[in-house]
Amino acid sequence: MPHLFCHDHPETLTLETSVLDARPGKVLLAQSPFYPGGGGQPPDRGALRWRGGEAAVTGLEYTDTGEIWHRLDSPLEPSGTVEAAVDPAFRRTMRQLHTDTHILNALIYQAFDGALVTGVQMYEDGTARMDFDVPDANNDRIRALEAPINEIIARDVAITFGYVPLEEAQAQHGLIRSRSVAPPPTPDGLIRIVEIIGLDRQACGGTHLAGTGGSPPIRILKVDNKGRHNRRVRIGLVGSIAAG
Ligand SMILES: [Zn+2]
Repeated sequence: MPHLFCHDHPETLTLETSVLDARPGKVLLAQSPFYPGGGGQPPDRGALRWRGGEAAVTGLEYTDTGEIWHRLDSPLEPSGTVEAAVDPAFRRTMRQLHTDTHILNALIYQAFDGALVTGVQMYEDGTARMDFDVPDANNDRIRALEAPINEIIARDVAITFGYVPLEEAQAQHGLIRSRSVAPPPTPDGLIRIVEIIGLDRQACGGTHLAGTGGSPPIRILKVDNKGRHNRRVRIGLVGSIAAG
């Protein structure tokens, strides 16, 4: 994974940049504020605007060479200077959900003896699901984590990020929680580490809040058994449609 603009500038959602290459309905930009997706977080959506034209960005594509192409909703081929704009409401929901999945993950990890994540997916409707490898877990103990999660949100704990070499990340127990969720290293062999101060430190390539207080409270909507080992936990942001 390359160093992404959205990692270093999470608050910059609109950017004036130039088109490096274009094919019908697909554009490569010199710089992009869009998150390309990964780790259970869907890609950003938004718009490209240029002199005399505009198109919605409906998806992003990674190439083997590390290029990120923006898929457009029409077969246009813009050139020159463009304005790239991420949908702010969508990004905000994803940052909130993504941060809350880290809090849930941290509390499960502590309560269930280093239990690992086996899957995660965030949804536009303000809900997310996480799968954990927690053999013989009592589901009521998982449901009881709702209050401590909301306490951490209410305390507005700061969140920071940095980079460590891959070998260091692999050597430190608990830093890489899941093969499926951990980000691939950058071309110079670094892994991005996201830290909720005093609570959780783990490898992650997604977008997060600057502090936990940027999220509304959450509800644990459902805990399902997925075989004897796995539990699927659904959470929802209070105020979103699905969580009521
Ligand atoms: Zn993350």
